[in-house]
Amino acid sequence: MSDKNLDNQNPNPDYLLEAQDLKVTFRVPGGKKLHAVDKISLGVRPRETVGLVGESGSGKSTVALTLMRAHEPEGGKIIFGGQDITHLDQKGLMPIRKRLQIVFQDPYSSLDPRWSIRRVISEPLKAHRYGSRREINKRVEELLEQVGLPQDAADRVPSQFSGGQRQRIAVARSLALEPEAIIADEPVSALDVSIQAQIINLLRDLQDRLNIGLLVIAHDLALVHQISDRIIVMYLGEAVEEGPSDDLVGNPQHPYTVALLSATPIPEPGGDRKRIVLTGDPPSPIYRPKGCRFHPRCPIATERCTIEKPPYIEISKDRKVACWQAGEMDAPRDLWALKDVPLPEGVESAKK
Ligand code: ADP
Ligand code: MG
Repeated sequence: MSDKNLDNQNPNPDYLLEAQDLKVTFRVPGGKKLHAVDKISLGVRPRETVGLVGESGSGKSTVALTLMRAHEPEGGKIIFGGQDITHLDQKGLMPIRKRLQIVFQDPYSSLDPRWSIRRVISEPLKAHRYGSRREINKRVEELLEQVGLPQDAADRVPSQFSGGQRQRIAVARSLALEPEAIIADEPVSALDVSIQAQIINLLRDLQDRLNIGLLVIAHDLALVHQISDRIIVMYLGEAVEEGPSDDLVGNPQHPYTVALLSATPIPEPGGDRKRIVLTGDPPSPIYRPKGCRFHPRCPIATERCTIEKPPYIEISKDRKVACWQAGEMDAPRDLWALKDVPLPEGVESAKK
């Protein structure tokens, strides 16, 4: 199959949330174009968790914000529940906002410091005319319990809570209207490593119990692997590899995926592991390299890679990769043929 199959015209009936060839550019000083997201296609099925991973600056948050219709795409489509919402006006978006929520990275800046937790959590309920004051208060109580916070939290303000607790509050707010899908953009990267696993477990648990489709965005592949059914790897605004979570991590086909895996320090009993450590910063999305956009940092690039851009092709069921050398490289697969990659607890990811 060629990458023509990315040019879907119709919504994929399997998906609750879908992006088709989504393209987002920004104008930067000097009139240049910054290609933040370049023809990404992705989908989240009902009750499925999809991980979107890539280094800082690869365009993940732009994808999230564009799906939420906070940025206007230059091209492509956004589909939710079978409906094309790419150009819906604010009024048309109201019912979608109820069904699709977002949790941001930083619970310090995403919660108004002057508002009581009750007000923070009930704000979406009021905006969507959920019910009487009593019904709203009852819902706030329920939500606090769901995210593991005490009832008396309702009458306190965000500054009285730790980062992890604040992220629980943000999660409670996102759940208020019983959404069908949540986008969580780096939900734990602002938190202490010791707290990260708690929030990840909370998201997992809620997703199981509440049957929510989840798009989890992070720069840490091991963390995304912990929670996702499927993973999409992004580089410079494009998808370079995707597949079922265990398969992608156990059998990476793109050298960038291998590099992301190598960058995560995992404890290993007495042995060297082969690492691909990327040197330098990612190239600028204003001046992107020709050919494969990853070639200047790729340890196995050939001449072809410097000239011709590899197409994003399906290599097996649910597996896609954009690499001329896919499957050719000497990846440290043995080390990653693990069913469960432990969270790098107590260790900061090498990236960011
Ligand atoms: P990530 O979330 O993966 O770190 P972002 O989506 O935040 O990446 O950013 C992708 C690229 O787009 C970066 O080069 C960033 O500087 C640029 N960018 C993001 N938002 C804007 C904006 N509002 N205006 C101009 N450039 C932006
Ligand atoms: Mg981001």
